[in-house]
Amino acid sequence: MEVPLPRAKPLPVANSPSRAPLPEVLPLHDAEAWPSDCALRLAEIARFANEPTLNGPGQCGASDVVRLEGIMMPNSALVTVMPTATLRCPMAEAVAQWVRNDLGPAMAELESPLASLTTHGSYECRGRNNAVGAKISEHGRGNALDLGPVRLANGSIVDLSKRSTPRLFRQRVRDAACRRFTTVLGPGSDPYHAEHIHVDLAERTHGYRMCQWDIREPEAAAEVSIPLRKPVALGSRSTDCQYTTLNSSSPSRTKPENCTGRRHKRRD
Ligand SMILES: [Zn+2]
Repeated sequence: MEVPLPRAKPLPVANSPSRAPLPEVLPLHDAEAWPSDCALRLAEIARFANEPTLNGPGQCGASDVVRLEGIMMPNSALVTVMPTATLRCPMAEAVAQWVRNDLGPAMAELESPLASLTTHGSYECRGRNNAVGAKISEHGRGNALDLGPVRLANGSIVDLSKRSTPRLFRQRVRDAACRRFTTVLGPGSDPYHAEHIHVDLAERTHGYRMCQWDIREPEAAAEVSIPLRKPVALGSRSTDCQYTTLNSSSPSRTKPENCTGRRHKRRD
């Protein structure tokens, strides 16, 4: 007697070639050969450790990742990074160059050599400004760093976001950051950046850059007499465009409209 074979189970719909689900972790970031060219350059100016490629969840992730521990100054002094910062190597290199060539020399003229940086954030898979459902932050790509107060060799603490810090010093550091990074957000940009400086290397169309860090007057009287700036609502346009005064070598990037385009409403 012929026993009928059990009917083959239908394939799950998800396995159908036409309806295959997206993988939970998208293979966006391939592992790179180590050391990368960037890592070889970075080894000359910083202390860091190699980190594995980051993939997911979702669109988060990065390749050529390092954990930045310190920056070697031209005089061989080490400026420590506390806590250490997980960044894509090109971002770590940009930070190291900024500290070596701009922040460090400006700080030495101010009072005492730079000793350490305080980081308030580096790689983190999240939406911009920690908002749920927001577009992915450059922090989720290993492309951004949040900088808090810095410490000098004599023990002093200097907060770049405070009016009490000498104005010309803050302006010098801000201008240098805006030449090196495609996004700089500080006090005056929005309420999220009132107490730290965000820098990143976001790639945007038409060379669009953001340099939004108000260098406010240090006088105590100014704190009282100047009305508080109305916070910039999420998704609204900022009115600042300090970049117009900063990059004389790239006039095509200094047009005000390049600083507050509608397609780039949010940041961080
Ligand atoms: Zn940030």
